[in-house]
Amino acid sequence: MSDDDRAAAMAKIRREPSPYRRATVVSIDALTPFMTRIALGGDELEGFEIEAPASSVRLLLPDAESNELVMVTWTGNQFELPDGSRPPIRTFTPRHFDAQRNELTLDIVLHDHGAATDWARRATPGDEVAISGPGRSEELNPDARSHLLVGDESALPAIAQLLEWIPTDRTIEAHIETRGPDARIELPEHPGAKIVWHDAADGAEPGDAMVGALVDTADLADDIWVAGEAAAVQRLRKHLFDDRGRDRSNVTARGYWKKGRSAT
Ligand SMILES: Cc1cc2nc3c(=O)[nH]c(=O)nc-3n(C[C@H](O)[C@H](O)[C@H](O)COP(=O)(O)OP(=O)(O)OC[C@H]3O[C@@H](n4cnc5c(N)ncnc54)[C@H](O)[C@@H]3O)c2cc1C
Repeated sequence: MSDDDRAAAMAKIRREPSPYRRATVVSIDALTPFMTRIALGGDELEGFEIEAPASSVRLLLPDAESNELVMVTWTGNQFELPDGSRPPIRTFTPRHFDAQRNELTLDIVLHDHGAATDWARRATPGDEVAISGPGRSEELNPDARSHLLVGDESALPAIAQLLEWIPTDRTIEAHIETRGPDARIELPEHPGAKIVWHDAADGAEPGDAMVGALVDTADLADDIWVAGEAAAVQRLRKHLFDDRGRDRSNVTARGYWKKGRSAT
């Protein structure tokens, strides 16, 4: 099979994501100096549903200079702008959906620079964006009695959601890496949860603290969920599967961003 045939076959089997719904910024709240909560509203959000925790939505951002939202077309393989270029689309956790008000909340990390983080810094009520999703998420393992959650700041919204969804008769141990105490957020109460915060050391690779925390965890839980910087997540996968002989069926490990690489 030629490369062109392979590309055509891949394009055919790529499932079309759910269509984009237009939405406008309703409110902006600083959760910490490093994380902004943005509520999006609008009639097109009607029927949006979060069916499981730690799922994802694709956020289509407006043009960085004009702030105009240009809608995209699905080509069978990817979304494109009318001029054929790649649109500024980033992935976020649908943190909360208020069906009465048709309002979707996203919690966005403010890091150095990027299309989404820059947009979150300058967003004002009335700004237009569009949302596709939510995408499929892993169902919670019905047989697990204990959960280990490991993540960095980008995983905080998903960890907060998992704390709300995991049944209260189970135990949870969460290890969360942030740039410092100022980046911690208040997490939902769970009677069986132990939350351990880890500050990233100066000059360390992203994820070093969360990798160290998991490596130091002697008794691993029935179910393990890990998300954060991709290389760190890869190190954790390797540790869990190669060093600890962990069964892949009860580990979810997802790279949420890549050091030095934009998401497009
Ligand atoms: C399923 C899923 C759910 C996610 N949920 C959330 C969420 O709820 N909240 C959230 O904030 N993020 C979340 N993310 C991560 C988010 O999609 C990425 O961080 C994304 O790259 C941000 O886009 P950007 O335009 O700001 O930066 P980009 O243009 O993608 O990247 C620009 C530069 O910034 C760096 N960078 C990107 N993200 C970070 C970061 N978090 N910290 C430090 N440096 C970074 C990149 O390495 C690159 O050098 C999720 C990702 C996935 C896959």
